[in-house]
Amino acid sequence: MASKLYLIKEGEISLKGGNRALFEKRLRHNIKDKLGKDANIEKQKGRLYLRISEEVSDERVSKALSTTFGITGFARSYQAGKSVEEILEKARQVLKEHSFGSTGTFKIDARREDKSFELSSYELSIKLAEVVHELFPSLSVDLKDPDYTLHIEVRKDVYIYLDSEKGPGGLPVQSAGRGMLLLSGGIDSPVAAIRAAKRGMKLDCIYFHAYPYTSDEALEKVKSLASIIAPYLGGTRLYVVPFTDGQLRIKKLAYQDETTLMFRASMVKTAERIAREKRASAIVTGEALSQVASQTLEAMSFTDSMTDLLVLRPLVGMDKEEIIKTAKEIGTYETSILPYEDCCVIFSPKHPVTHPDKQESRKHYMALEMDEEIDKAIRNMEVFYFNPMGEEERL
Ligand code: ATP
Ligand code: MG
Repeated sequence: MASKLYLIKEGEISLKGGNRALFEKRLRHNIKDKLGKDANIEKQKGRLYLRISEEVSDERVSKALSTTFGITGFARSYQAGKSVEEILEKARQVLKEHSFGSTGTFKIDARREDKSFELSSYELSIKLAEVVHELFPSLSVDLKDPDYTLHIEVRKDVYIYLDSEKGPGGLPVQSAGRGMLLLSGGIDSPVAAIRAAKRGMKLDCIYFHAYPYTSDEALEKVKSLASIIAPYLGGTRLYVVPFTDGQLRIKKLAYQDETTLMFRASMVKTAERIAREKRASAIVTGEALSQVASQTLEAMSFTDSMTDLLVLRPLVGMDKEEIIKTAKEIGTYETSILPYEDCCVIFSPKHPVTHPDKQESRKHYMALEMDEEIDKAIRNMEVFYFNPMGEEERL
């Protein structure tokens, strides 16, 4: 079957010393998880070359690669025979198929690794520029800031490609342990997920659902968010914890101004239980310092004290504006702003404590005796799975 070729550039992986092979293996694995076992990935001098059946659409490959951490850029590439004639012929064909615009500027980026090749990279650039001029007479050369670039690399083989698409950078997921993300329907937690995954953490998601106080639509919204972030996470499970009775118990027994704190403590306790079972060693949340009443240092310090797991808050130093910008880039923003609130007003106190006394609040939490509610919630938990292309699959 006919196949097509993509050149993939790795970012930070290439700076890794002794561990480089491990990171690379993980990256290849993650790409294959998305594009299937038939995807063939070969390495040559700091580049990966992906060969895949023509039947897989460019859009699918693009979605797969642009969401895979460890990749900084990629481009559909073409292999040419290793003679000047064959190179010029191939360049002509590529330019005709993926035409540059008719106006603007271009440059040729030629690299010759194989020094035995008959032309120097400069000489090759001149010949290729002539081809471009012949096909697009109104384009002019601009070496500093061109609108279009034609790349050519003369290595063991010869590769030609046009402008590359951006990858997300970072390190391949699953190269840095496992975490549990507390995923709400808001703007912040999906962004926190991307930040943690970017450094290689493998994440599954937990959502606390208080039906009927939080609606079916709210759950659907969280499922959509999980599906949008799943490609970045290399696939993810979504654990839906039914926590209505837990919320009602807190509402009935807790000091009113501490209800949010008590809920947060229960979330962390529950997440810790799930994390232990799934061998995850961190909890990730979308909290940012001082964004709301429960996100003060004292409140965060209280929730941290409820678990031995590391609690990571990747957004701690980000403004809402910056968070929104990232949410738009990853495509979660439009879903996050849908109007189904994840936490019903009846559970939010009018005047929440902002500077709790850690020891006092811990005693108050213990007095609530939440363990049974947490056991029950975990027993009745539902699990959904979104594969590395973001499609929901039955487990
Ligand atoms: P977000 O935009 O992520 O909802 P937020 O600014 O609304 O955050 P909070 O509602 O206080 O802030 O939540 C802080 C964090 O707690 C969230 O980012 C998320 O990690 C977690 N969280 C809140 N509600 C839930 C829930 N129902 N299920 C799971 N996690 C939750
Ligand atoms: Mg929220």
